[in-house]
Amino acid sequence: MSDSTTSSTSGYFGDFGGAYVPEVLLPAIEETQKVWDEVKNDDAFWAEYLHYAKIFIGRPSPLYFAENLTKKIGGGKIYVKREDLNHTGAHKINNALGQALLVKRMGKTRIITETGAGQNGVAVATVCAKFGFDCTVYMGEEDIARQRPNVFWMENLGAKVIPVTSGTKTLKDAVNEALRDWITNVNDTHYMIGSALGAAPFPEMVKEFQRIIGREAKSQLRELENNSEILPDKLIACVGGGSNSIGLFADFISDKNVELIGVEAGGDGVETGRHAARFGNETDAKIGIVQGYKSIFLQTPDGQLRETSSISAGLDYAGIGPEHAYLHAIGRVRYTNATDKEAISALKTVMKYEGMIPALESSHAWAEALKQAKTMKKDEILIVNQSGRGDKDIFIVADALADEKWFTFLKKKASVYFGK
Ligand SMILES: *Cc1c(COP(=O)(O)O)cnc(C)c1O
Repeated sequence: MSDSTTSSTSGYFGDFGGAYVPEVLLPAIEETQKVWDEVKNDDAFWAEYLHYAKIFIGRPSPLYFAENLTKKIGGGKIYVKREDLNHTGAHKINNALGQALLVKRMGKTRIITETGAGQNGVAVATVCAKFGFDCTVYMGEEDIARQRPNVFWMENLGAKVIPVTSGTKTLKDAVNEALRDWITNVNDTHYMIGSALGAAPFPEMVKEFQRIIGREAKSQLRELENNSEILPDKLIACVGGGSNSIGLFADFISDKNVELIGVEAGGDGVETGRHAARFGNETDAKIGIVQGYKSIFLQTPDGQLRETSSISAGLDYAGIGPEHAYLHAIGRVRYTNATDKEAISALKTVMKYEGMIPALESSHAWAEALKQAKTMKKDEILIVNQSGRGDKDIFIVADALADEKWFTFLKKKASVYFGK
């Protein structure tokens, strides 16, 4: 399923990518590369992937015409790729499924992963339960405290969730611990990276497992528009590590007339320094080699990963997949950002007019989509990727909207357990 314009047999996308791992990890990386090279052109492997994508994830996810919003805005036609309707509620399961089938081929029995908000952890725990792998999830202590519902589900799905207490006790520290585990247990263990980043071959592999998003969208649009040649004018997706966006973009990268727009987390505004927009500001982001790959990272002046800030945990990371660094460098994808406030406002608009609850991550893509639609002609088309559903964000959104009834509910609930 690879695309000659950006396939990466070398593990590089232009200057970015590569596999910068400690020597003890080289055999694991080489084995992953070898099995990946075998399966990527193996029709039987992809038939199995498509089989489970259908019966376990619920694919294809619909491409949905947002008729009400299109009318209200009065510009271009807005289509929505509904990754929020996947089992577990986001696109991450596409990758977790693909890697689980890869691990089956390798004959390994144990899977480890990292998670920030817990979305990747839940997707991985789900496929581990389904395919019978032992599952360990590394998660920062801070994140565990903030994301109890996802921790609850991971543990009940049979995963061991290990709190990481080093560094800032967040995602980047969880990645370091997972790498340490992999080094120690490389014989029976696979590290299932959750986004299109890390050492080669992970960025390419994760992209190929997410490519299904754009591939489906392309043919669904042609069917809905009753036009076998038609292409969208713009594609819009949010960019954390970069997997849902590269999955949407991949089959359109060589369609030069399709504008590709990635939306990063603007946090409190790029000018405040509290954000996670790697391409938002030239002075904060520099080329670096971190956690196995060469890319653009938000860094302190002495080259450490900087703390980032976003209302959406899934976009709150200092690094970005190497292919995005490359697509940015060559100007094929335009990167912009949406602030926390703009994301919340877009979420409210989408709920009100379309009856959908996008994840806070996806609401960043929506913020840009609503702006773009306004500038487009009525016969022009944009597709926004709704990477996940927003139910998981209830604590954060209720806070942001200062919902008194929700606080009363929490107080009552707490008093049942702890007294008044
Ligand atoms: C994890 C997550 C993201 C960000 O990750 P990418 O790898 O950039 O796609 C976006 N949306 C949702 C719903 C997520 O769970």
